[in-house]
Amino acid sequence: MERIPGEPFPGSGCPASRFLHDVTVKVGDVRTDSWLRRDAPARSVPVVVIGAGQAGLSAAYHLRRRGLDFVVLDAEDGPGGAWRHRWRSLVMATVNGIFDLPGMPQPPVDTGEPAADAVPRYFAAYEREFQFPILRPVRVHAVRDAGDQRGGELVVETGHGSWAARAVINATGTWGAPNLPWYPGIETFTGRQLHVAQYVSAAEFAGRPVVVVGGGISAVQLIEELSLVTTTTWVTRREPVWIEGEFTPETAGRASVARVEADARAGRPIGSIVSYTGLGWTPYARAAAGRGALVRHPMFTAVEPGGVRMADGSFHPADVILWATGFRQDVGHLAPLRLRGELGGIAMDGTAAAADRRIHLIGYGPSQSTVGANRAGRAAATAVGKLLQPA
Ligand code: FAD
Repeated sequence: MERIPGEPFPGSGCPASRFLHDVTVKVGDVRTDSWLRRDAPARSVPVVVIGAGQAGLSAAYHLRRRGLDFVVLDAEDGPGGAWRHRWRSLVMATVNGIFDLPGMPQPPVDTGEPAADAVPRYFAAYEREFQFPILRPVRVHAVRDAGDQRGGELVVETGHGSWAARAVINATGTWGAPNLPWYPGIETFTGRQLHVAQYVSAAEFAGRPVVVVGGGISAVQLIEELSLVTTTTWVTRREPVWIEGEFTPETAGRASVARVEADARAGRPIGSIVSYTGLGWTPYARAAAGRGALVRHPMFTAVEPGGVRMADGSFHPADVILWATGFRQDVGHLAPLRLRGELGGIAMDGTAAAADRRIHLIGYGPSQSTVGANRAGRAAATAVGKLLQPA
């Protein structure tokens, strides 16, 4: 198979990609509760929500309000969705703004606390308050059509048995599907390569030259802290687009969300978030620029054992390559439903997959923010309520 530089690494989207030395494939521990038995017979429930991040919890809240019976299957060991895994230096002061879950405001925030602690604590309190039926750790491996004989049901297959459902609200986010582009020689690199999903803190890279790949918020944020402890080189495929003025999910949001919505409606693949929003001159971006660390270079053309070969032929030694190349929608388990169209994306109508209105995708495309996830959870619950109404 011919490989194209910059295209996803084969297996990208699956964190087991070979060249990331420090990736482990995490599979939820098997618990012994009867409902988690692998050989349990298929259970039946009107609605299965997959994922208990912001989007899944919002859906749960609104399904409950509509009196609909449901179960939430979540692959994590505990509450918090992807926030459980954010790097430690991402603190409440540097997140882009996290919206309250419906029906329960966030407690007062210590701006210096890691988001990986504060947000899961809030989600845990939320889950305790509402006592939603959340089963974890349960990873969904596949969602299939049950066939004509089962009256239009879907079968949700997990490592702990199956659920039959009339509708599925998919809220699996993107964290589990890091985007890893391939470049010639990538397998030959003798230093450390990691995706931002594996990044913990700058301290472990002190004194080790780092090439940071990618033009999004995470690249800028991590360059800022890495450049305090080592030399960094920033490479991106395209010239970054800097937005002047205030940059919040709401201000950056509306026009960008409309563009993502248009792509989702048309069935085009959803691009990276930064390709819609551009980059804001946040305090950390200004700090990095002030130190001269935000000098962007065009993407390297090849990786060599001790560094990267730049487009102008020069060689750049590196000890670490940090792929800040974003994430894709984590929807591989929906593949049996063949929702993707000719353009490569899943065509959407509101939160429903246009090809199969039993499937709703939230925290997806235009709703990939905490405020978007909230709204999509409500919209999906409303749409599923209508779908399940007796004719
Ligand atoms: P997640 O929080 O990712 O939750 C998905 C859940 O689904 C997880 O619990 C996961 O384990 C589970 N899951 C996945 N696959 C399966 C499966 N097959 N079976 C069962 N369960 C599964 N947005 C903002 O609004 N403000 C911010 O400040 C902000 N900062 C961000 C910082 C970073 C570094 C990143 C990557 C994103 C950020 N975002 C931010 C976007 C953010 O991801 C969303 O706003 C929101 O938190 C996503 O919620 P979610 O419910 O869609 O997904």
